[in-house]
Amino acid sequence: MQSKDRIFLSSPHMSGREQKYIQEAFDLNWIAPLGNNVDGFEEELAEYNSISNAAVVISGTAAIHLALKLLNVNAGDVVFCSTLTFVASVNPVLYQGATPVLIDSETDTWNMSPEALKRALWEAKENGKLPKAVIVVHLYGQSAKMDEIMSICSSYNVPVIEDAAESLGSEYKGRKSGTIGDYGIYSFNGNKIITTSGGGALVSNDKEALQRARFLATQARDPAVHYQHSEIGYNYRMSNIVAGIGRGQLEVLDERVEQRRAIFERYYEAFGKIEGITFQPELEGTKSNRWLTALTINPNITGITRNDIIERLAEEDIEARPVWKPMHLQPLFENVKYYSHEEKNGVSDYLFEYGICLPSGSNMEEDQQQRVISIIENLLNSNSK
Ligand SMILES: *Cc1c(COP(=O)(O)O)cnc(C)c1O
Repeated sequence: MQSKDRIFLSSPHMSGREQKYIQEAFDLNWIAPLGNNVDGFEEELAEYNSISNAAVVISGTAAIHLALKLLNVNAGDVVFCSTLTFVASVNPVLYQGATPVLIDSETDTWNMSPEALKRALWEAKENGKLPKAVIVVHLYGQSAKMDEIMSICSSYNVPVIEDAAESLGSEYKGRKSGTIGDYGIYSFNGNKIITTSGGGALVSNDKEALQRARFLATQARDPAVHYQHSEIGYNYRMSNIVAGIGRGQLEVLDERVEQRRAIFERYYEAFGKIEGITFQPELEGTKSNRWLTALTINPNITGITRNDIIERLAEEDIEARPVWKPMHLQPLFENVKYYSHEEKNGVSDYLFEYGICLPSGSNMEEDQQQRVISIIENLLNSNSK
């Protein structure tokens, strides 16, 4: 059992408004799949993001899988993916029997390097095998350089899937994160900025494609009274109860973004001017939801490593984590092609080696955050030369 005073990296933060929607579903005995909360959540989510269509499903991973299905990604195809991410962005490529190619980060956003992407696409074209899709991640809430990425991809006619699992509520040049590519996906997993306990969404302005996604997500059942099927389907739809939680959570999303940004600001105030510490930047023209506050600590300058901090915080029952381990360093992707930012110079390796995510939950109290800050300050002071 964990103590009740434990400070989490990011834990569910209910608003109290979820109950109303769940109660409605109970009152109507609309517990079974689909129903008014699913329809309502889809409409409200699409409206929030100023996009025409949303389909809600059981997870962000399922949403990525459906996007790949819609783009006709099959065995033997290639899909380009961000290397610095959670494995869920890449696993669906494997579900389809396709091969990922991993693209490094750049330093301005920590996300997909347009330079590495350009080189990878140029080479793929030379070799006569362009990818069927590019999956670009917006790490910890910060948008990738979408103008550059969209322009490079469109010059090769390669569709883009935005993995916005971590960036719901973030903005890129006035547009909501996840709405710029051909498809966008969100996650409502327990640690995300809003949660349904588990869930995800696929968004697009292509109404027919999303209709097809809903069809594939309900066992691909042909229109007939007898159960008839002509292709592989999945059981991926979100339930009406879960969607009720989502409706209640969506109402407080903007509040959650501001809360997480305030948490970031407090960390930044404490450590932003310390030599050897670099926070994940916010690219000009973008607004990050600051899902997690992430920074790098150069031990040669600060005298402490990010693992020192993680271990010290753990002693105080406080959860902190390293930045995601890049996919090109994972045993699962040992033999997968990888393009670094500059030919001989990787960026994600550095971010992984020195990067740390600090507790960023919107339900963390200010005095709890002050405790986290003090512990890190003491560690920094005791080791400064
Ligand atoms: C959480 C996450 C996912 C997967 O979402 P689930 O809802 O947990 O399946 C995908 N990509 C990234 C970058 C994530 O952080």
